[in-house]
Amino acid sequence: MTHTQSLSSFAPSTALPRVLVLGTGGTIAGVSTGHPAASDYTAGVLGIQELVDAVPGLELLAALELEQVCNLDSKDFEPALWVRLAERIARWRAQAPGAGCVITHGSDTLEETAYALDCLLPPGAPVVLTGAMRPASALSVDGPRNLYDAVQVAVDTGAAGRGVLCALHGRVHAAVDVSKRHPACLDAFDSGERGPLGFVGLRGVRFTRDVARARGNVLQPPSGPWPRVELVASHAGADGALVRALLAASRNASMQPGLRGLVVEGTGLGTVHRALQPALDEAQAQGVRVVVASRAGEVPDGPYEGLNPHKIRVRLMLELAQLEAP
Ligand code: ASP
Repeated sequence: MTHTQSLSSFAPSTALPRVLVLGTGGTIAGVSTGHPAASDYTAGVLGIQELVDAVPGLELLAALELEQVCNLDSKDFEPALWVRLAERIARWRAQAPGAGCVITHGSDTLEETAYALDCLLPPGAPVVLTGAMRPASALSVDGPRNLYDAVQVAVDTGAAGRGVLCALHGRVHAAVDVSKRHPACLDAFDSGERGPLGFVGLRGVRFTRDVARARGNVLQPPSGPWPRVELVASHAGADGALVRALLAASRNASMQPGLRGLVVEGTGLGTVHRALQPALDEAQAQGVRVVVASRAGEVPDGPYEGLNPHKIRVRLMLELAQLEAP
């Protein structure tokens, strides 16, 4: 399925900072299947070498080392790939202290990978994710600019120690804050009320704020299968049927691994339909961890403050894995 292939390109120069660039696919590596102004394309086609070759001037910013980790539409990402990326970055940090890393990634689940890496890696040299909203063959393509900007951030002296970062459309976002909020426009990502950490572009990198919260402990990935945490939603007419079906499948082992957690996309401040609540209480009574998030965006307070439901799911899986660790 996935393979790691070393594709060293530019000869490392002693004068330039080193940056590891890991390719994982996405629209940034996509190719149009119809007219380049239309939306038909296949994500994850071009290799990381081809993406770098399309960015004039990158070789003046850094000595790049390129590696293709996978070439996927990020809708098909798996938690095992988060672990592969984290392990690769840990090895890179050990081998090249202080040197940054850039990851090219599909935009659809970019925030999940960024946040998973934020949980799995200790603070240190910059790790910067980037992607694109238009395939590499489109008119007015955004990928090369985003990749250039991501490398600018990766070599910026102010970028280290801020947690995992995302460089997209001229903004630098913290992994904890960023969400994709539009399916197609170039300016698809934002960091909600907290806003971006800074900006990147023609004038280089400018950080305008610090990450707002103290980060939690570094979490270890599970040694076996990831604990199953499902997302369910509260909405008009919601009831407990879906949650009870999950509990039943878990009890009779027709669903493997069994249910360990539920993240509820609640309404507003994290409220739940009165017909759904009893099923959540039953789940909790059966040892399933239940966290209520908000479909209006981020949870306003508590241990998951500021996280959207998908990132809470990432964190909950990792927290459950710590509890189950031998
Ligand atoms: N489906 C694509 C992906 O996430 C979308 C993108 O990259 O913009 O891989």
